[in-house]
Amino acid sequence: MSTTPSGITILGSTGSIGLSTLDVIARHPDRFRVVALTANARAEELAEQCVRFRPRYAVMADADAAERLRRMLADRSPDTEVLAGHDALVRVAGLPEVDHVMAAIVGAAGLLPTLEAAKRGKRVLLANKEALVMSGALFMQAVRENGAGLLPVDSEHNAIFQCLPDNYTAGEPPRGVRRILLTASGGPFRTLPIRQLCSVTPEQACAHPNWDMGRKISVDSATMMNKGLEVIEAGWLFGLETGRIQVVLHPQSLVHSLVEYEDGSMLAQMGNPDMRIPISHALGWPERIASGAAGLDLLEHGMLQFETPDSARFPCLGLASAVMEAGGTAPAILNAANEVAVAAFLERQIPFTTIHRVIEDALERCAVQAADTLQVILDADEMAREAAAELIMQAKVVVAR
Ligand code: NAD
Ligand code: MG
Repeated sequence: MSTTPSGITILGSTGSIGLSTLDVIARHPDRFRVVALTANARAEELAEQCVRFRPRYAVMADADAAERLRRMLADRSPDTEVLAGHDALVRVAGLPEVDHVMAAIVGAAGLLPTLEAAKRGKRVLLANKEALVMSGALFMQAVRENGAGLLPVDSEHNAIFQCLPDNYTAGEPPRGVRRILLTASGGPFRTLPIRQLCSVTPEQACAHPNWDMGRKISVDSATMMNKGLEVIEAGWLFGLETGRIQVVLHPQSLVHSLVEYEDGSMLAQMGNPDMRIPISHALGWPERIASGAAGLDLLEHGMLQFETPDSARFPCLGLASAVMEAGGTAPAILNAANEVAVAAFLERQIPFTTIHRVIEDALERCAVQAADTLQVILDADEMAREAAAELIMQAKVVVAR
């Protein structure tokens, strides 16, 4: 066991992954020292975390929220310096006293700080799949060139990583592997009659049968865009083309993914659907540390099911495979349009079934370019957001008529 605790920055500490990360870290005060915590606008929640974990820095993306946090911490955690804005997020991801960076901001907002962590050679614990989907080749290059560590936190990718040999290097096609299988629960609408999908509410979409997650990823699970993003994520993490990544529906969410080897052996990682398991695996790697999660009782469950996903019910899966084939800025366009469409659905501006249409139309409108600089990727993101917002305005006009 290490004698000096490792410094850690948690980007997005007030979210679902952030909270689970702090839960694991609190079990290992000898291993981890929290250097920085960050949040978007929830100052009260970040204040409580600061009082408990005493970070050197606390960052609020929002300046007004930072001012509120400063006042709350003046007496209660005076050694915590409160910073504001996006540049501060990037700064705390690259601090010299930080060894681990948990990338748990949701969406494109996490790209620059996560990339900074890679550029500074940190051990990046990646939950923020959107960052990798947007910037794939550039991100993997930053990891390689700066000797960064890259440990998948997404449960499926973490499962695959656990089923690969110990000396596996991120981004390289794993030796002797025929293909990987990503499991997917199918979300809350796996069996709902398709004609009812147009009238489902944000509350129904966010009520995931097995996992308790943030609202954006919950809607992504309901459309299965989450799995689409994960196919792209797996392509970059494991150096595999689309044809070697199969999506399998598995409603129980107990087998978190599988690797099939050339000899026909298939290795799977199993466990209860509790994100503290992949989080603690990534935090402790290569050692195993306690997560607080209960062991899996197979006898209680009895049965495991596997099915082929229905492409008519889940059109987002096909869109994601197509953009992975197209390459360049196509995944960034898909990701941005999806973020805008999901936010509009959550605000009740568009029906659930319009989400994939907005993405499809944005992909048609925005020209794909080679994603060889960060600026090209950020421009594609912005262009796709504008296109999606315009399409949503039009969709609202149609709904209002
Ligand atoms: P969440 O919505 O619960 O939390 C998001 C966090 O990001 C919060 O701390 C929030 O303050 C912060 N944030 C949001 N917008 C921001 C902005 N503009 N600037 C700075 N900070 C911002 O989300 P989550 O469910 O914890 O998911 C986080 C990431 O992890 C996502 O990329 C998701 O796909 C991925 N992930 C989550 C789970 C899960 O079980 N929740 C599983 C696998 C992967
Ligand atoms: Mg996942």
